[in-house]
Amino acid sequence: MFTRRHALGILGAGIIAPRAYAQARHVYDLTPIQIADGMWMIEGSTDYFSMQNGGAIVNIVLIEGDSGLILIDSGPSLRYGEALASVARRLDLRGVSAVINTHHHPDHFFGNQVFADKPILSLGETLSAAVSDGDAFADNMYRLLGDWMRGTEVVPPTQVISSGEVTIDGRSFTALPLGGHTVADLAVLDRQTGTLIAGDLVFYDRAPTTPSADLEIWQASLNELEAINAAQLVPGHGPVDKTRAAIPQTRAYLSWLEHTLRNAAREGLDMIEVMDTTLPAEFAGMGAQPQEFHRSVSHLFPGIELQELPRGN
Ligand SMILES: [Zn+2]
Repeated sequence: MFTRRHALGILGAGIIAPRAYAQARHVYDLTPIQIADGMWMIEGSTDYFSMQNGGAIVNIVLIEGDSGLILIDSGPSLRYGEALASVARRLDLRGVSAVINTHHHPDHFFGNQVFADKPILSLGETLSAAVSDGDAFADNMYRLLGDWMRGTEVVPPTQVISSGEVTIDGRSFTALPLGGHTVADLAVLDRQTGTLIAGDLVFYDRAPTTPSADLEIWQASLNELEAINAAQLVPGHGPVDKTRAAIPQTRAYLSWLEHTLRNAAREGLDMIEVMDTTLPAEFAGMGAQPQEFHRSVSHLFPGIELQELPRGN
């Protein structure tokens, strides 16, 4: 007898692969990985934004608090936030108790809408930048991701986190107010497990993004993070780092990027010629290359060119 179950089986497996079917319906498939006692990570794709990944390119951390799970970053869209809320409820029936946004880039905070009734904490400058840049970011995300973004509205953080020792939902953190990837980048050290959640100050095996970057301040922030001696580090993008390789890798990439752009400016190359630079093997294999290098050239080269131009008067 042909039942409804058979019909679904044919639809689900025989005609279209489950993952492709989920993509066609714009459903995020989020899998939490336990990375410490009472701590889970959802690891994003290391690719650039695409209609295949729906912008699920960012790392999210969920940490046990007294009354639910503390969420660090909320993803790129309303639908992603909804998927996160159901992951949280599967891990802890009480769901999410508080949200922390590491910085104001849209892949990290556009899921806030789902948690608007909870405290949403960030650095003060992140809050103002989310308000001032949010709509422009949303336009861009709708262009890149289409239907994945349907219904998404910009919900900025609501509370300013203090720096230093803080307690959020009963859990002790050290909040480190840094910057350089953007105007304000929050890194959070979980005292109980020694896990450093670095946001986009650290990328691992995925090319760093630079649309809001100040490379000198970013390098100084990396030095501060390295001095912490964390047991493990969760980068903003890329796998969890237990071997202390991610900070030196990010530093090396940013140094190479700056030297490459300065040399090109001194040699009088134009932007297209710089984009044709062959990437060294250690950076060519990173996720989202060469797109991120090309984006960095377009963000950073005009300013560096101005600095390096011989003064004519
Ligand atoms: Zn970012």
